[in-house]
Amino acid sequence: MKKIIVQKFGGTSVADTDKIKNVARLVIREKELGNDVVVVVSAMGHTTDHLVKLAHDINPNPSARELDMLMSTGECVSMSLLTMAIQACGYKAISYNAAQIGIITENVHTKARIIDIKTDKLRESLDEGNIIIIAGFQSVTEDGEITTLGRGGSDTSAVAIASALNAERCDIYTDVEGVYTTDPRIVPNASKLDEISYEEMLELAHAGANVLHPRSVETAKHSAVPLRVRSSFKCEDMGTLILGVEKMEINKPVAGVAVDLSQVRVVVCDIPDTPGEAATLFSSLAKENISVDMIIQSYARKVSNTNDIAFTINKEDLDKTKSILDVVVKDLGAKEVSFDENIAKISIIGAGMIDRPGIASTMFRTLAENNINIRMISTSEIKISCLIDKENSQNAIKSLHEVFNLGCDTIADVKGTLPDV
Ligand code: ADP
Ligand code: ASP
Ligand code: MG
Repeated sequence: MKKIIVQKFGGTSVADTDKIKNVARLVIREKELGNDVVVVVSAMGHTTDHLVKLAHDINPNPSARELDMLMSTGECVSMSLLTMAIQACGYKAISYNAAQIGIITENVHTKARIIDIKTDKLRESLDEGNIIIIAGFQSVTEDGEITTLGRGGSDTSAVAIASALNAERCDIYTDVEGVYTTDPRIVPNASKLDEISYEEMLELAHAGANVLHPRSVETAKHSAVPLRVRSSFKCEDMGTLILGVEKMEINKPVAGVAVDLSQVRVVVCDIPDTPGEAATLFSSLAKENISVDMIIQSYARKVSNTNDIAFTINKEDLDKTKSILDVVVKDLGAKEVSFDENIAKISIIGAGMIDRPGIASTMFRTLAENNINIRMISTSEIKISCLIDKENSQNAIKSLHEVFNLGCDTIADVKGTLPDV
């Protein structure tokens, strides 16, 4: 039986017709190596952003179902165009949307989770000699309702399909040469990592390194699909391999620095300090599928016997959170709620920080030396995150990258040149 390789191409890689023709060459090259090839594509360039903007121009509060109906169209365009480009080169190719295959999710709009992927049609089609092109990001419920996997979710489509097909490898092609110690657009001398553990990559992705959708890393880890991030424009480079931590030699305490500009800080003030208040607050958000990231509860004030709870949510959930809190704050007997969008979450990540004291204090001291105030802190075994003012984020990333010695002598090529395949 032939090996199956899954390739995923992101928005920049299919941004115009020349780039789509370039992708067709990369797909054909993999086919010519004797493999069966399944390709997952994102929408062209910034299509999804434009679609979301159109929706909000028409209706400031579009329904999640209609947003999914609209956003899912972007990937259909790139899927068909890439298939035509491959056919134009004389190869058999066919495109499928998520409904045609059966990429099944739970019944949640705009950030659904995959529960099953049917493989019969895909296997049949591969046996007929086709290169298969699939629309990423989109999915359907058991009842045939269109859903999407959350922004950046095509990575997750690709890894889930690779896992369902028991693929040899899943290659995520993008506009940088792999996973770097931080976003190379912010720190041009960031170092490309040859390998990184699933655990570190998961934390990096959750902390805002959007080079991989967090759930794609979770899925790869769970199913042990070998996952690679590599460039569509410099394809001779093998990029970054994501693998189990037990296979790695850990030298540095910190593997990477990430920034997340998509969070909003919410502070609920003067909540009566009685059992069950936090449960009421957070279950009302959970019921509406709103994820909360950092949480801090202050000490109870002696006189009023009240405390404050501060937490962060994603900007996408801001409107929904405001309307939920309008009701819940009254139920809790809290005094007021404030929202701050002018914040950034800066994180350092590294499996090497386990049992190595002094990493957190180095981070805090570096921020202090740069006159950067820390508003919230959260930690995991291999991550420390600080919430700071947005205007300080670039300065914070650059100085943390430097203090943990993550730079190299070369400048990252974030655009690259078209390969000659
Ligand atoms: P695609 O359209 O291919 O899915 P994305 O824009 O989602 O691409 O992800 C690639 C981008 O991720 C890069 O252009 C880079 O600016 C950004 N990025 C953020 N952090 C990192 C990191 N640690 N390593 C590599 N890229 C990163
Ligand atoms: N097109 C979708 C987005 O922009 C999915 C993706 O690119 O992965 O979020
Ligand atoms: Mg992406």
